[in-house]
Amino acid sequence: MVINLRLVVLSNYMKYQNSLSFAKGNDEKDPLKSFRSLFNIPTNSNGEQQIYFCGNSLGLAPVSVEELLDEVVSQWKRKAVESWFHGDNPWIDSHKNAKRILSSLVGAHDDEIAIANSLSVNLHLLLLSFYKPTTHRYKIIIEADAFPSDVYIVKSQIRFHGYDVDESLVIIRPDKKGYPISKQNIDYTLEKHGNETAVFLISGVNYSTGQVFDLESIAQLGKFYGCMVGLDLAHAIGNIPLNLHNWGIDFAAWCHYKYMNAGPGSIAGMFVHRDHHESQLPKLHGWWGSKSESKFLMRDEFEEEKGAESWVMSTPSQLNMAALYSSLEIFDKTDINSLRTKSITLSGYLAYLINTLNNPNLKIITPLEPKFRGCQISIKIKYNGKAIFERLIAADLICDWREPNIIRLSPTPLYNTYAEVYKSVQVLKTAVSPQKMGL
Ligand SMILES: *Cc1c(COP(=O)(O)O)cnc(C)c1O
Repeated sequence: MVINLRLVVLSNYMKYQNSLSFAKGNDEKDPLKSFRSLFNIPTNSNGEQQIYFCGNSLGLAPVSVEELLDEVVSQWKRKAVESWFHGDNPWIDSHKNAKRILSSLVGAHDDEIAIANSLSVNLHLLLLSFYKPTTHRYKIIIEADAFPSDVYIVKSQIRFHGYDVDESLVIIRPDKKGYPISKQNIDYTLEKHGNETAVFLISGVNYSTGQVFDLESIAQLGKFYGCMVGLDLAHAIGNIPLNLHNWGIDFAAWCHYKYMNAGPGSIAGMFVHRDHHESQLPKLHGWWGSKSESKFLMRDEFEEEKGAESWVMSTPSQLNMAALYSSLEIFDKTDINSLRTKSITLSGYLAYLINTLNNPNLKIITPLEPKFRGCQISIKIKYNGKAIFERLIAADLICDWREPNIIRLSPTPLYNTYAEVYKSVQVLKTAVSPQKMGL
């Protein structure tokens, strides 16, 4: 196993060269190179483009976003309430176009997806339906180093249902803190707690380590133990191919402002598998979750819409919908497998170049096997991490810092280049040099 992994990594590295001309040559050959011009690339105070490796946190603004937002404002100004049902793009249908493109990104049927709220809210709403603790099955399993909001969400759900967090929250731990979680770590936890677990909630890609989980086998394992399997896809959507329906995932939620480029705090998404559409799961209702035919009849009787839409409660913001659509239109011009192909070589090149620095202060904690990493490469810095990070920002390499000692670099296939990857490692090399560190 270990040997195989090394071979995969080595054979991958053989195709890379440590030179700007190699990087530029790859950009020339890149079938996705035209997509960069569809985004606003941030600039420094001299008006020069920065290297933006923060798509894992906030994706860049599509060039078309202003026009699409203007269109909604203009409709609002000219036709006001009439815009809901009339005109070329009636607001009442805006989610349908979006769902068509989203469904291919997450591998779902349109009726398994809904667009509403934000991620943490959607996770709560879905857990209200899927976390139904009983005296024998009351635990929630999550992964170590899960995003803090997810930890707060599951802890408060456990308390909300009258259970004890210490007894009910199970965390899958890696062999050593900050390291990838192995299949053995997952198997062991499920063996020990699976039969008492109501919900197994895991992220598709861990926000901190950048590790991609084998979601298909996780779904099978969760089902084997009789748990509901839920996913947080914040760092997975737009990053790796997903096949939620065929994998048999029970429910999932995600935001659209990371790799999905729909803007800060944009409207979020959720998935509920068709297996649960007829099963009368408990849920909280609002008028937007009622049947489209009866929504405006203003009756007291709630007639539930079919599928995931029944979890939607409120009128969706059309400004948010337009911003989301400006991004989805771009995804619609390509496909996630083409993005993934470029992403694997782009992040692989980044990892290769970082390793050529051979600097003992830098340790890549993201698994290097392509299957287990997405766009993001996380580096653990032993000494002076924060100072090094600040030097990177000062040198126009926009990445992010996660306490206590992690720098995340996420070249994305839609708008980043191999030349940027090359230059970023030059910047990193200077930032970690002993002179700079005062050693
Ligand atoms: C980004 C992120 C969130 C953020 O949640 P919001 O409700 O959108 O603020 C939650 N969970 C994970 C795993 C994330 O990566």
